[in-house]
Amino acid sequence: MHSFSDRVLAWYDQHGRKDLPWQQCDAYGVWVSEIMLQQTQVQTVIPYYERFMQRFPDAVALANAHLDEVLEHWSGLGYYARARNLHKAAQIVRDEYGGDFPDNIELVEALPGIGRSTAGAVLSLAFGHRHAILDGNVKRVLARHRAIPGWPGKAAVSKTLWEATEQCTPRQRVDAYTQAIMDIGATICTRSRPACDSCPVAMDCVARSNAEIDNYPGRKPKKARPLRQTTMVMVLSGQAVYMERRPPAGIWGGLWSLPEMKGDAVDGWCERLTDGSRADVEPWSKLRHSFSHYDLDIHPVVVRVDAVSRTVADGDDSTWYELGESPPGGMAAPVKKLISELKKNSNVTNG
Ligand code: SF4
Repeated sequence: MHSFSDRVLAWYDQHGRKDLPWQQCDAYGVWVSEIMLQQTQVQTVIPYYERFMQRFPDAVALANAHLDEVLEHWSGLGYYARARNLHKAAQIVRDEYGGDFPDNIELVEALPGIGRSTAGAVLSLAFGHRHAILDGNVKRVLARHRAIPGWPGKAAVSKTLWEATEQCTPRQRVDAYTQAIMDIGATICTRSRPACDSCPVAMDCVARSNAEIDNYPGRKPKKARPLRQTTMVMVLSGQAVYMERRPPAGIWGGLWSLPEMKGDAVDGWCERLTDGSRADVEPWSKLRHSFSHYDLDIHPVVVRVDAVSRTVADGDDSTWYELGESPPGGMAAPVKKLISELKKNSNVTNG
């Protein structure tokens, strides 16, 4: 079997795109195209590219233009940071390299808006220097072909993919290879339903032979929602429950709620509340409440105290709420639910 790159190059000779406007350009033109192609498809880019190159034919013309005009020519492509960085980088090319795009990978990577893969693409396409690339399309081809597990955003996975792309990149015809591997990713090894029958490297594609194409590249792991715990204490004296108003800022700010504490603090708290006499503590089943960023497991407990033990006084921010009367104010949904359960248990129907 021919090597990976030989098969990619043979495919390029037969099917590769050789008439893209930037394929006849110098490094500046290739650079502009690579930046435009970062988040945009080839067919969309072409007319923008042609207009842009007509107005800014070289790095100096771009550097000398007003940013507003550059953005105007970018308008419709989106991700405008790309245009701002391009303009800034063109000024560096004008001021530090006499207007000629540098052909050294470290210098290219140091320019604003150019990462390792874009630098590799420009240098291989424009100068034929042997540099590997690893854009989203190439990641997909290599992750599938070698069955490289894991999400490419993870450093260890990215390292393995970079090693793979370095190994695959040939010493000869690197410009054609770079164009071809990007094209294979974009047009054959597509995200869904890849055209494996037309793929030049299908013969030894591990994901394909294991029928696991959909598993590669690995997806970004979903962050587990944090789960917090709290105990809500319903202190019941006769048919009155002790409630507190929450501070104005934060969760349920200003709403009436039940005293909250850690589970192991309930006994001590009850003792203080009842002047040391033993309170009857009855745990209820857990209640889960979901906030936008986390879940809260509420462990309700009912503490029955004698009327004489009502040592916690009424105040602006605390009250003994008689279950048969109207509530002291707004309550958060789970608190409302607990109060209504409490009413049911205490045979209170009005209020
Ligand atoms: S055989 Fe299919 S899955 Fe494997 S690299 Fe080619 S197109 Fe992608």
